[in-house]
Amino acid sequence: MSLKSDTSILNVTDLRKSYGNKGAKTIVIDGLSFALRKGECYGLLGPNGAGKTTTLRLCLGLTTPDSGQILLAGHAVPGDARLARLRVGVVPQGDNLDPDFTVSENLLVFGRYFGIPDDVINTRIPKLLEFANLAAKQHARINELSGGMRRRLTLARSLVNDPDLIFMDEPTTGLDPQARHMIWERLKTLLSQGKTILLTTHFMDEAERLCDRLAVVDHGKMIAEGSPRDLIAQHIESEVVEIYGDNAKDWLNKKGPKQPARIEVSGETLFCYTNDAQALVRDLQGAQGVRYIHRPANLEDLFLKLTGREMRD
Ligand code: ADP
Repeated sequence: MSLKSDTSILNVTDLRKSYGNKGAKTIVIDGLSFALRKGECYGLLGPNGAGKTTTLRLCLGLTTPDSGQILLAGHAVPGDARLARLRVGVVPQGDNLDPDFTVSENLLVFGRYFGIPDDVINTRIPKLLEFANLAAKQHARINELSGGMRRRLTLARSLVNDPDLIFMDEPTTGLDPQARHMIWERLKTLLSQGKTILLTTHFMDEAERLCDRLAVVDHGKMIAEGSPRDLIAQHIESEVVEIYGDNAKDWLNKKGPKQPARIEVSGETLFCYTNDAQALVRDLQGAQGVRYIHRPANLEDLFLKLTGREMRD
């Protein structure tokens, strides 16, 4: 059965998933609802274990939910997941390219999984290689590629079926800054072509740069949703002063209580959140053994406020 949805390409309603039996049940997805508008980049952010990868797997029909509805590219998942997946590209967390094949062969073999005829795939391969800046490597083996090249090939591979929507699970993890910038550029090109992207990332600058909207998820629940700018404005004071150095904590004990700021301590650094940092900065100028950075609030501040600063596994 094909269900139509004009404005959204992925609709998730009250999704629930747990693992284990009654005695030791772990709720992993706890009533999650969200929808992706066509052509947007939607970010799924959350600490490790929040349920991001499970959400992606549920949406692709690779894991069965306990309850809830998923409508992907007009098809109900998991029932019609196979049909839905024909319209979707996937960039998984780790590279799972086939080391027995060359760069071009990886694209050909992957295209065959979708039932695309070889002649159609072969006309797409040069464009995909050009997009991934890998034309010169078409006959290379996978083990001859750098990490950045492998990621670009994985990205090209996710496009072999000309998908409407691409799921990207931490696409730039492990890459150097140059390679990350190149991937960002390519993702922006895809968005300008009208593709929709569902992105999970631990890089807040990446999410802030690429996402039209994002959801912050923790313990399988959505705790905030909106554009990066709106979310920062809603939840965080506009200015941040990071204070560090040998005397930072002394300074906090002596001067901190007078400051009209919300103060968080993380390791050696004091984070002062305020809507007007003028007085604070004036106080800090000339303070001995204290250094500081004065900056606008960003997505990382929001993320840490909503999900806490303690480590997750
Ligand atoms: P994230 O991608 O946000 O780091 P995951 O979706 O990978 O989080 O995992 C969410 C939680 O679900 C974790 O606590 C993880 O241990 C648990 N989990 C994931 N898959 C399974 C599974 N197959 N069996 C049991 N627990 C699982």
